[in-house]
Amino acid sequence: MLAEKDGRWEEHVLSLHLACEHCGETYEPISPRALSHNHPEGACPDCGGLGRQMRFQESLSIRDESLSIHDGVVKPWKCATRKTLIRRNAITRALAEQVPFDLKTPWRDLPKAVRELLLHGDPKRKFLLPPPKGRKPVETAWTGMFTELEHAYRTTTGESLRQRLLQFQAGSVCAGCQGRRLSPTALSLRLNGKTMAEFLAMTIPAALEFTKQLATHPGVMPAEEARRGLEQRLAFLNDAGLNYLTLDRECSSLSGGEAQRVRLATQLGLGLVGVTYVLDEPSIGLHPSDHQRLIGSIRGLRDLGNTVLVVEHDRDMMLAADHLIEMGPGAGIDGGRIVFEGTPKACGAHATSRTGAYLSGRATLEGIVKRKPIGKAAITVKGATENNLKNVTASFPIGALTVVCGVSGSGKSTLAIDILSAATARKINGAKFVPGRHAGIDGLEQITAFTAVDQEPIGRTPRSNPATFTGIMDLMRELWAALPLAKARGYGPGRFSFNVRGGRCETCSGEGSVALDMQFLGETFVDCPSCAGRRFNRETLEVRFKGLSIADALGLSVNEAAEVFRAQPKLAEKLRTLAEVGLGYLKLGQAANTLSGGEAQRLKLASELARRDHSGRLYVLDEPTTGLHWDDIAKLLALLGRLRDAGATLIVIEHHADVILAADWVMELGPEGGEKGGKLVYAGLPEGLLKQKGSPTGRALEQRS
Ligand SMILES: [Zn+2]
Ligand SMILES: [Zn+2]
Ligand SMILES: [Zn+2]
Repeated sequence: MLAEKDGRWEEHVLSLHLACEHCGETYEPISPRALSHNHPEGACPDCGGLGRQMRFQESLSIRDESLSIHDGVVKPWKCATRKTLIRRNAITRALAEQVPFDLKTPWRDLPKAVRELLLHGDPKRKFLLPPPKGRKPVETAWTGMFTELEHAYRTTTGESLRQRLLQFQAGSVCAGCQGRRLSPTALSLRLNGKTMAEFLAMTIPAALEFTKQLATHPGVMPAEEARRGLEQRLAFLNDAGLNYLTLDRECSSLSGGEAQRVRLATQLGLGLVGVTYVLDEPSIGLHPSDHQRLIGSIRGLRDLGNTVLVVEHDRDMMLAADHLIEMGPGAGIDGGRIVFEGTPKACGAHATSRTGAYLSGRATLEGIVKRKPIGKAAITVKGATENNLKNVTASFPIGALTVVCGVSGSGKSTLAIDILSAATARKINGAKFVPGRHAGIDGLEQITAFTAVDQEPIGRTPRSNPATFTGIMDLMRELWAALPLAKARGYGPGRFSFNVRGGRCETCSGEGSVALDMQFLGETFVDCPSCAGRRFNRETLEVRFKGLSIADALGLSVNEAAEVFRAQPKLAEKLRTLAEVGLGYLKLGQAANTLSGGEAQRLKLASELARRDHSGRLYVLDEPTTGLHWDDIAKLLALLGRLRDAGATLIVIEHHADVILAADWVMELGPEGGEKGGKLVYAGLPEGLLKQKGSPTGRALEQRS
């Protein structure tokens, strides 16, 4: 090819084949696989397509900057065999002479350039350094302590050394692909100027715009069908309130509600007719200002001729339904009946419907938590810039209930969880999290204890249950061991545990069930034939309190047990607390892995209430009302109020309007998700949010009242 440049014709040799005319490098024909990070052909060879690698972190490796190299300031550098240590000391001595610097200067007093050189090396300078083998120093570039340590980590065969080195590392962006996950070949392919990685990093509205423009691109014409399909799906994602997501967002980092809305968009795109869709709480994590769009998508499915069944607690969704069914009246053994069936309007007028009472406004959550005036003491996160946060400085009042709200992707979790919780957990519990980028936190010294209360299960096996988790089981075992028959037989409290030998049924090892091999049907669990699911042996079960064996007692609900143990003060108090947080229906021995997330959360909070003094304690809760009915939210709010009145500082990330209005202090991040968010839109009393200009939460609250 000839091209004119500055009036002269220049010759360029190009190839029509997949080869370079200069160096002879050849390439495989490009297939769709070559653009997939899930396929070896397309994945970045350094990280295998994960986009992240474990890397040594300066913040984890250097804890005390007053130490010098001589004192071992870079901790992992000292983790090695004796032989390696001798060589490493020779290296640092050689560097100290040639750079030069003093091995005994505290780390913080070394020039930044020297510190950088020590940790990360300098490809441009040559030093005389001792090589791995042989004694004579050779002239070489210094690649840095971290490179040296990474090599040691990859090549060591000692598991304990690997473990020790691992504690100085954290996941960070892959250096090979800068987190783009694709191979260099894939990253060099461009369509209308954009690489695959650049396309995937776009937000959904931007990707939609780009895809529309491709309609006139001559190279895309042969693949018009694929282009149109892409455009259609992007349009649906955009309508489902997911416009803040980028296409390369990992599915595992999507909330349950987000993942469900992505699947919903796929279904809408297929345009099927005559299908029954069952959606389980699709509004979870969705900001109230996006509810109408979600409802619009669901109506779209219905209008195509489909049947949609939605399990939901959200008020907007209930009001939008054609037909409403309420199950109840209570939870667990107190539920299981149809309380109401009909239109939302009829539900509001129904005499005994709890849902109707809230829908019509006859019942409210107002006044459950008495507002507490805000004092001066606060924890202040300064200059937060992690993710999309725009240099946010925010104060969380001590001893108050603060709600952090904002649309999805606004940065509220980044501020409250990734920065504040991580920094607190690290300081107080010695956790290994690296907090997100921020300039500093003032007032953290006022916090002496930290608990994150989530909806994770309290245990993953049938061996833990509400009784074991709350300590009720220990008290019950003491009680049974003190009974005359137990004393006569010499049974101690351990006799009444299904976790140790002695009193438990040995056929099932106290599990209550045994696995049955069903041949080609796989494994199934049946009640243990020896103990019939009661988990204890016959002798143990002969010891009875008020006619009940320990197994009978585990079969009681919290409310029933409160009656049986009313003369046992410690037991009675624990049971009363459980009933107060709305868990009165729960069976004491119900297997932990069958509890819902909301139940697990309230169990955790209830066991926190056993502590009397909560001053100096910080609780962080991430969307605690998820999956809860109004009645349960009322109980949760009362519980939060009690913790606060006992001196605790509470920070709650929440969308729920009633929880926002019940707070002592409200913070909103936004105004939008992603790049258009990350600013502190509002901080103040809940009422002020309604008047705040440009606040999506304020607008949603206003429309509601
Ligand atoms: Zn070449
Ligand atoms: Zn990579
Ligand atoms: Zn058994």
